[in-house]
Amino acid sequence: MKILAYNVRADEAEYVKAWAAKNQVTVDMNQKDLTPETVKDAQDYDGVCALQTSEYDPEVYTALMAYGIPQLAIRSAGFDGIDVAKAKATGLKVTNVPAYSSSAIAEFSVQQALQLIRETPAFAKNVQAQDFRWNGFISKELNQLTVGVIGTGRIGKSAIDIYRGFGSKIVAYDLYPNEALKPYVTYVDNLSELYAVADIITLHAPATAENHHLICQDSIAQMKNGVYIVNTARGSLIQTADLIAGLDNGKIAGAALDTYENEADYFGKDWSGKKITDPILQELLHRDDVIVTPHVAFYTETAVNNMVDISLDSVKEVLETGSSRNEIY
Ligand code: NAD
Repeated sequence: MKILAYNVRADEAEYVKAWAAKNQVTVDMNQKDLTPETVKDAQDYDGVCALQTSEYDPEVYTALMAYGIPQLAIRSAGFDGIDVAKAKATGLKVTNVPAYSSSAIAEFSVQQALQLIRETPAFAKNVQAQDFRWNGFISKELNQLTVGVIGTGRIGKSAIDIYRGFGSKIVAYDLYPNEALKPYVTYVDNLSELYAVADIITLHAPATAENHHLICQDSIAQMKNGVYIVNTARGSLIQTADLIAGLDNGKIAGAALDTYENEADYFGKDWSGKKITDPILQELLHRDDVIVTPHVAFYTETAVNNMVDISLDSVKEVLETGSSRNEIY
């Protein structure tokens, strides 16, 4: 069995080599996106896996099938770049990695909330400037706060488990509440109830047509004064201009954004020394009450190892059995 792994980062390569050795499978690697041009490199292989932020051109699906490669395994959970209907129509089996480490994202989101309530960015900036005064940056404690969790799936549940350890009160909203969480989570039937009581709002729902710009002028108006917002889910959940207005008028005390609605041109790329032309991103970067991180909540050794292993397991599974439990439908 010979597999070609596209766009392998340096931090993935060791895990790829380890998987290949363990499974006695040849896995060659490149640093290219999978495109109608680069798909030609896969001609002599049995299977492929890939990871990229750009969309997968449907021509790639037909080319893979023409080369006798029946599958495409993407090494991420999100499959926004795949046209599932077109891929299916060719007969190609596309797999993702539905869960690789919920803890990675959950832990990150909670530490972002802690940074906000403990005024860490403001202290760090002042200390950098050798101003060692406290400057009135008096903090709050998680054990005194109510956390509003929107989306209580794998990551939301993991975040709830951590917040419980801190002694926070938890209110939650999900289209499908998790019965197992009900003993220690107060589920609300509509978001207005969550907005009315939450000191911190943490987003863990996928981006859907229904929740596009869920956090907007209307919803912000329903929130407590001084609310903190943490988004490690998807940028489109927040109408960013409205968020900035909420920060400006003091309604929102701080926001931590690991995802941003127009992140595609910037996150994961080196813009040092270049002018950022997106005025909203520029504004976010210059604010003391906003923490921007470039979609890195998932980025831990455990998660990357799992992304590599699970995607390569899926390649092997499809090649050996014709299907995989991680197939995207
Ligand atoms: P999941 O499918 O296990 O859970 C999502 C939950 O959200 C489900 O319980 C679902 O019922 C609920 N939901 C769906 N639409 C909703 C809505 N409109 N309002 C409230 N709840 C809603 O997914 P997960 O593994 O917990 O991942 C959650 C999200 O985290 C992903 O969809 C992705 O957007 C994001 N994510 C971010 C990173 C990162 O690095 N920042 C990494 C992985 C995932």
